[in-house]
Amino acid sequence: MSGNASPVVVLGAGIVGVCAASWLQREGYDVVVIDRQEPGEATSFGNAGCINGSSIVPVAMPGVLKNVPRWLLNPDGPLVVRWQYLPRLMPWLLRFIASSDPAKVDAQARALRALMESSLADYAPLVRDARAERFVHERGHLIAYTTDAGHASDDKAMRLRAQNGVVIDEITKAQLHDMEPDLAPGFIRARRIGETGHVSDPGQFTKQLAHAAVSRGARFVKADIRGVQTDGTRVTGVITNAGVQPASAVIVALGAWSVSIVRELGDRVLLDTERGYHIEVPGAQARPRVPTLWYEGKMFATPMDGRVRCAGTVELAGLNAPPDWSRTRLLERQLKQMYPAIADDIARAGEGALPRWLGFRPSTPDSLPVIGPSARFSNAIYAFGHGHVGLTAAASTGRVVARILAGQSSGIDLEPFSIGRFR
Ligand SMILES: Cc1cc2nc3c(=O)[nH]c(=O)nc-3n(C[C@H](O)[C@H](O)[C@H](O)COP(=O)(O)OP(=O)(O)OC[C@H]3O[C@@H](n4cnc5c(N)ncnc54)[C@H](O)[C@@H]3O)c2cc1C
Repeated sequence: MSGNASPVVVLGAGIVGVCAASWLQREGYDVVVIDRQEPGEATSFGNAGCINGSSIVPVAMPGVLKNVPRWLLNPDGPLVVRWQYLPRLMPWLLRFIASSDPAKVDAQARALRALMESSLADYAPLVRDARAERFVHERGHLIAYTTDAGHASDDKAMRLRAQNGVVIDEITKAQLHDMEPDLAPGFIRARRIGETGHVSDPGQFTKQLAHAAVSRGARFVKADIRGVQTDGTRVTGVITNAGVQPASAVIVALGAWSVSIVRELGDRVLLDTERGYHIEVPGAQARPRVPTLWYEGKMFATPMDGRVRCAGTVELAGLNAPPDWSRTRLLERQLKQMYPAIADDIARAGEGALPRWLGFRPSTPDSLPVIGPSARFSNAIYAFGHGHVGLTAAASTGRVVARILAGQSSGIDLEPFSIGRFR
């Protein structure tokens, strides 16, 4: 499918765009990837690193409405809404609340599981081709609790996982501290999910997959995407600050920045950003052995290459508000509570001098990404809106997108992911 025909142009070189490019290459397409940054430098740089096919529980669960006042009033909570952003957020928030209907939640979880069950398997050929095995660890992850009430309030989410085939092991306090000797004694029990994996440097991992694609003939263009050219029925090119890139098809993988292209293609979408933060402790001696979610604190501690990364929090404040670094101070306090001995590592690294980061989860109100063709242009395929699970779902999304373009069955029901749900 190379030769004189225009290439397939992937918009965005985050983990979703890079995986789409890699799968398209495997289907024989000539591929160009455009991004204003180097691959893997936006949201895909700083996540918690989990390839977690069990992460199928939508953010909007039944009863979510009663939490909204707390999110508005408690600036130190794990989820906050900035008042100034509330008017712009309102349509998204109303749909978010509507998505918490129990029947809808069941359907969303089913759809996410169908997409992500094969996440590690869908990465496998890409990782092999890129010789990126050293980044991928298949050791499962833990959800650790400091209270019985927390454990009980997580039951509903665990039932949803179990209904969808996730195997969950209950872990006693003694077992937990055996597995995780640096964890504070205040952690009284845990659940272990063994099917999952993690990536020990998400940014470098994305770059290595991108380099592998380039070494097999893909072209990477560093440019600012301004829009698309069409002939009325098909997209024919991508307009950038560096000129027009001809295209036989486009894959829209611009993460949280996808809205303007969607509108240009004549579709509607409710996409906002759940901003999240991380801090890192380089050279930490005290550390998790596997990615560990502190349920009550709603933050992940992940063992990364040469450092521990603590990632989490949700801040609904849009793409343009300045960072609120008090969120990372909260993460630092929580990390010390979780692994008391890490305080020494933090002191060695320099108090208040830890690497810190703000990223923009591309979030739809129903926690489902948008995957599939635009309503008007069958050669424009959407692949964005992966919220909390973009690293997990990227390879599977890439495989599905390549199948759609090749006119083959994707193997899953794509209706729940269609752009048409926002009409
Ligand atoms: C704190 C935190 C923890 C997380 N933990 C996990 C986890 O453990 N597991 C998991 O699966 N997911 C996790 N996620 C979510 C995951 O990181 C995202 O879903 C994923 O990175 C989205 O990838 P993407 O490729 O869609 O977007 P991005 O990585 O944001 O890529 C979009 C690309 O588009 C480019 N772009 C945008 N506009 C333009 C333009 N006009 N011109 C040119 N280029 C443009 C950007 O430069 C960027 O490179 C986490 C997120 C956060 C914030």
